[in-house]
Amino acid sequence: MRVLVTGASRGIGRAIAVHLAESGADAVAVNYRNSADAAAETAQSVERAGADTATIQADVSDPDAADELVADAVDAFDGLDAVVNNAGIVRPERTEELTNDDWNAVLDTNLDGAFYVTRAALPHVQTASGDIVFLSSIGGTAGTVDASYAASKAGLHGLTRSLAREYGPTGVQVNAVAPGPVDTELNEDIVNYLERIDFRGHESVDTHLPEYACQPESVAETVSYLLDNEFVHGEIVNVNGGMQFG
Ligand code: NDP
Repeated sequence: MRVLVTGASRGIGRAIAVHLAESGADAVAVNYRNSADAAAETAQSVERAGADTATIQADVSDPDAADELVADAVDAFDGLDAVVNNAGIVRPERTEELTNDDWNAVLDTNLDGAFYVTRAALPHVQTASGDIVFLSSIGGTAGTVDASYAASKAGLHGLTRSLAREYGPTGVQVNAVAPGPVDTELNEDIVNYLERIDFRGHESVDTHLPEYACQPESVAETVSYLLDNEFVHGEIVNVNGGMQFG
């Protein structure tokens, strides 16, 4: 299997890239936007696990860069079987204070970027009867106190289900993974924001697990399962320890 993981310089994307390599992927392309050194570290871990790799800088929110990203991955691996649309950002702010720039940055990266990369990859993934996976969030279904982020992830749910209908008949499997809070830099930004606005309630995550500290590897295992499985299609798979919606 030849896979492109966007936003794989750290956090969940790095865990996915390395886990896929450890699980027997033939080749894993590591995309990043700014963090070249961190992306190189991910690529070294992928290589150590025995997979080919390519480290590709591209801002997925730029449609031309997204096209080039996919073309570079296809060139490097002589094709592409799967894309994991993981790149994502937050710009948390109270909605009445949310600037156009911040709203657009979040939508451009999390939703438009996933669309650009997927559009470019679909011809190759169809040839391979492969997979598209989107990284959503519990916020895409339940909402959050970070409206731009939740809106971007809800958009991914529509994209997931629509592409599943449109491309399922061609042999492409399309799914999304929707984590609750995961121990990464992005989640630190969210927690800092919740503390800054003195939001009540986030201290006690409503989960059915005795201890709640989801690590990126748990999300990576779920992505790996979806890529291996032949019959899960059009699903939003929650990885949240039993957090209640609403
Ligand atoms: P991190 O902030 O730790 O990592 C984000 C990654 O995305 C980095 O590799 C970053 O690259 C890359 N990235 C950001 N913008 C772009 C861009 N425009 N083009 C290409 N790459 C980009 O985030 P997480 O690992 O926590 O999040 C990964 C995904 O999981 C996101 O989609 C997020 O929304 C989702 N998620 C995370 C949760 C959490 O609690 N952490 C919960 C639910 C979902 P660089 O360093 O080079 O900028």
